[in-house]
Amino acid sequence: MDNKRTSRLGEILIEKGLLTAAQLDIAIKEQRSRRKNMDPLDQQFAAATSLGEILIELGFIDRLQLNRGLNWQALLRKMTMAMAFCAPFMSFAPTAAAAPKASSSSSTATYTLPLTIQAENYSSMFGMQAEATSDVGGGKDMAYIDANDWLKYANTAFVAPATGVYKITYRVASPGGGGSFALTESDGSIKYDTVSVPSTGGSQKWVNVERTITMVAGTHSLGITALVRGSGFNINWFKVEYMGSPLPVTIQAEDYTSMSGIQTQATTDTGGGLNVGYIDASDWMSYSKSMIYIPTAGSYNITYRVASPGGGGSFALAEADGSVTYDTVSVPNTGGWQTWVSVTRTVNLTAGAHSFKITALARGYGFNINWFKVETPSGGAVSSSSSSVASSAPASSSSSSVASSVVSSTSSSVTSSAVSSSTSSLASSTPTSSSSSSAPAVASSSSSVASSAASSSGSPIQSTVSGAVGFSWVAPTQRENGTPLDITQIGGYEFRYRNINDANYTYVTINDPWMNYYNFNYLSGTYIFQVATYDTNGLYSNFIDVIPK
Ligand code: CA
Ligand code: CA
Repeated sequence: MDNKRTSRLGEILIEKGLLTAAQLDIAIKEQRSRRKNMDPLDQQFAAATSLGEILIELGFIDRLQLNRGLNWQALLRKMTMAMAFCAPFMSFAPTAAAAPKASSSSSTATYTLPLTIQAENYSSMFGMQAEATSDVGGGKDMAYIDANDWLKYANTAFVAPATGVYKITYRVASPGGGGSFALTESDGSIKYDTVSVPSTGGSQKWVNVERTITMVAGTHSLGITALVRGSGFNINWFKVEYMGSPLPVTIQAEDYTSMSGIQTQATTDTGGGLNVGYIDASDWMSYSKSMIYIPTAGSYNITYRVASPGGGGSFALAEADGSVTYDTVSVPNTGGWQTWVSVTRTVNLTAGAHSFKITALARGYGFNINWFKVETPSGGAVSSSSSSVASSAPASSSSSSVASSVVSSTSSSVTSSAVSSSTSSLASSTPTSSSSSSAPAVASSSSSVASSAASSSGSPIQSTVSGAVGFSWVAPTQRENGTPLDITQIGGYEFRYRNINDANYTYVTINDPWMNYYNFNYLSGTYIFQVATYDTNGLYSNFIDVIPK
């Protein structure tokens, strides 16, 4: 990646009349600025600072022109090496006119994504023929494809920036469908996909067929092998795009792509590492390079790991490009800068690639963020209303043990009516067989919620509040069936609350069995508050209604 090499590419493009000197100057300045501002260890560094890619980004050349430039460059290098070898015996210099015509199979370039590969630009091929295409853009397509014919693109290596989901778009035509082909690594080592070609109504009627595959990070080149001829099909090109990591995805707050106003610091939260702190209103972190692939449009849970000595802070979650703001999240009072809780919110996301940005709206008493996690709600539980929160463990099976009784009546700040109903509403429990499953102690807030209090004790209690909202409680000392429950067997407590006008609860997970009080932010309006206890195996009690002090 030396400047000599890249500026040489620029000079070749100028010499071939594809670029002006002024354009090259602009691109080189941009390249220098990116190299100065980016971490060389960043996965995107090579791509983002490649002169060729910058020239394309600036609109000075297209990819075909870049490929030609790279081919010329490779040829010139070969000639230079040959010349150096022959120099003692030669008395003349080569001229540009002496360069043989570029051949796609004679050089290998490594590209960045997204990348469109023309079917006819193969490095090797068996059994097909290229023909002129009447598709948009002209050029050629590959035709006369029979079963077991193949194409290899070892000349078109590209870098997959991360292990994750990739979208492959195939431009195909078929008079009657029925054909299929496999997508492989060019050396045949991996078969990624089997693609069926639909009937497009003609051998020059072109459609895009989109598929997703998973591919590991690193350099790849692809091949296509026809499996079934069917009515016959043609291929004009195919395109490779990175879509993101598959769910669930946890993004460390400190792994931002860019930010404003914040600092990182060591965290004492489980797992260690760093958290983001010193967050003031309008500060932000963008995670534009942490792409997440959402398979289908729908509700997804986003859990934020936060700490705040006094609450009152809030932040917005938006698409990294600013196109959509998904949510406003209030940070509760967790009791300290390094006292961490998980706050889970439900947002609707469209299918496809997403990346996020967090922008502080209010500082309040200040807050820190350690990480956030995007995942599918299990069984759609959290996206449904309170009365139908699904149970991952059969709630009706009360046979043997577990779920703990939750809020003790000895706590003066939890009303006795809530507590007494809790005692009776905690009849449902989880079978012993489940307790041997090794669910993590810090359970995901949605995955193992037992049946809701509402289903066993009627409508949830509504509390009209205005101001600071707090709860305190005493850890339960026995399970539902009377088995003693030691505090060391308790994983923690989970509050959930929602304004009666909201469909979704906000979940606050407190993974500290010794914690016995909790202060929410100032809230105003009519809310439903519920709490559950979970054990170190992640088994939950019912959620029961609680009334704030
Ligand atoms: Ca083509
Ligand atoms: Ca972190």
